[in-house]
Amino acid sequence: MGNHLLVDRKACAGHGLCYSVAPDVLDADDQGDPVVTADPVPDDRFDEADAAVDACPERALSWERD
Ligand code: SF4
Repeated sequence: MGNHLLVDRKACAGHGLCYSVAPDVLDADDQGDPVVTADPVPDDRFDEADAAVDACPERALSWERD
């Protein structure tokens, strides 16, 4: 249950803007690709995560709610 941040690996260009914008929600793996570290995203980090969705130039981040 909750809000889940999804990374579209095919769309992601791996330049790291998202985990710079939302370091409490996303981190980089060994390859520099983003990993969601807060799943589901807690309410108090929702705005931060949503800023990362908006910041991604490749539109590779999206929300799934269940
Ligand atoms: S900002 Fe978007 S394209 Fe860049 S690393 Fe994050 S998810 Fe990938």
